[in-house]
Amino acid sequence: MDGEQLTKDKYEKIMDIAKRRGFIWPSFELYGGAAGFYDFGPLGAPMKKKIIQKWRQHYVVEEGLLELESPTITPEPVLKASGHVDHFTDVMTECKKCSASFEVTELVKEETGDDIEGLSKNEMENYLKEKKITCPECDGKLGEVYEFNTMFRTAIGPKEDRKAYLRPETAQTIFIDFNRLQRIARRKLPFGVTQIGRGYRNEISPRRGVIRLREFTMAEAEIFFDPDDPSHPKFSQVSDEKLRFWPSENQEEKSRELTEKTAREALDEGIVCNELMAYHLAYAKKFLISLGLPEDSIRFREQLPGERAHYSQETWDMEVKSEKFGWVEVAGFAYRTDYDLSQHSKSSGTDLTVFTQNDDDGKKVLCHVVEPSYGIDRPLYCILEHAYTEDDGRNYLKLKKDLAPIEAQVFPLVAEEELEKIGKSILKKINSTGIFAEYDDSGSIGRRYARADEVGVPFCITVDHRTPDDSTVTIRERDTTDQIRVKIEDLPKTLCKLLNSEIEFEQAGEKV
Ligand SMILES: [Zn+2]
Repeated sequence: MDGEQLTKDKYEKIMDIAKRRGFIWPSFELYGGAAGFYDFGPLGAPMKKKIIQKWRQHYVVEEGLLELESPTITPEPVLKASGHVDHFTDVMTECKKCSASFEVTELVKEETGDDIEGLSKNEMENYLKEKKITCPECDGKLGEVYEFNTMFRTAIGPKEDRKAYLRPETAQTIFIDFNRLQRIARRKLPFGVTQIGRGYRNEISPRRGVIRLREFTMAEAEIFFDPDDPSHPKFSQVSDEKLRFWPSENQEEKSRELTEKTAREALDEGIVCNELMAYHLAYAKKFLISLGLPEDSIRFREQLPGERAHYSQETWDMEVKSEKFGWVEVAGFAYRTDYDLSQHSKSSGTDLTVFTQNDDDGKKVLCHVVEPSYGIDRPLYCILEHAYTEDDGRNYLKLKKDLAPIEAQVFPLVAEEELEKIGKSILKKINSTGIFAEYDDSGSIGRRYARADEVGVPFCITVDHRTPDDSTVTIRERDTTDQIRVKIEDLPKTLCKLLNSEIEFEQAGEKV
């Protein structure tokens, strides 16, 4: 079996588990489906909430950023001012024979492996001709290359007289609420605001499963700072963090070489634009590691000048290596300068400067912005892929304990009334402490362990024949299959500590 075949099988195995057990599946299946939309099932939905919860813990609770929640429907003037109406485009072409549509850079990547992002429309058209690229569906000739605005259009009111769009990013309302937000932040710079919610992008031809969605969950943060002082008060806490960079000049030379630097070195050597950017790249890497993604699967790729969004002066993509999809962008870090505040100020006629209190004399500044912007759906897929483990005929999801959708499972060893009764009362007790546990009494104990392993349940609790005598049960750990015995009365507390990694498994009870 060659490597590619192995990979393909692994992807199919993961998607089989995802659909069969309820992580993710394509939406609207009953009506033939619609590319670019996925449902998160009974296991995927809680797991996604846990990723979001961790993100909030990192960015809102620990980093102290403010949180905002705004409508996803956005009136046109907002997105006209932000430049999205004119610039939020992808380059597309259509087949002259079967009229299938293609996003040009993706088509080229699939057909030739080349990355032509950043080329002009004309250059792309010439490239397609030169390489004699035809329609992958029917081999027909491709038409001209043109720009397509990827925002979903809608309208407000019964007469539909106010044009609007589904938001392409969550950032814009943070900019237009700036005056309120900076007062709430008591005008201290830098300060940041986050927003977690749905974003929409009418992708031309999404063909990469859950990686290319038309409706997705984003978690964004806009960090406002005085352009004369882009320092971060906690930079020293992450400055030694080692990061792997792929700067744009290396990409232009077609060099695959990554440069490993600490955040401090990247700042001092001018690889990244300022201290806030260096801080947030290092902070983001720590966040991904907390999700269980391995360090060597993370890199930062600088976007090429022609590839950057219209508002950005420097953008780093944080990418995670996927066996199926190659390097997958899971977050982008854009230096948006004062572009957005300046546009909204001009367009609305409102002063969006702030009087800083950082200096003795104080001064008025139009803040600059560094923006960490995450997708939440892609990391979820990457986590599943990296967690999938085959070991000695056993397969299990090696999820971080605090990301596992089902946290514990309770089994009676055999179908006996006494054991079942104790099992159900244990379940009730555990559930009431906030642990998401389930009860399973169907099939052999071996099959039940296998079912639990397949979806990454970290701990299985078994009620056996000793339980009625001494009020103890066994806990089995997923990764090692080791077992310990604990008293039923200690179970909720012990499980909590285990799930939060506050104690080692061997120390949590008597080894079996
Ligand atoms: Zn065709």
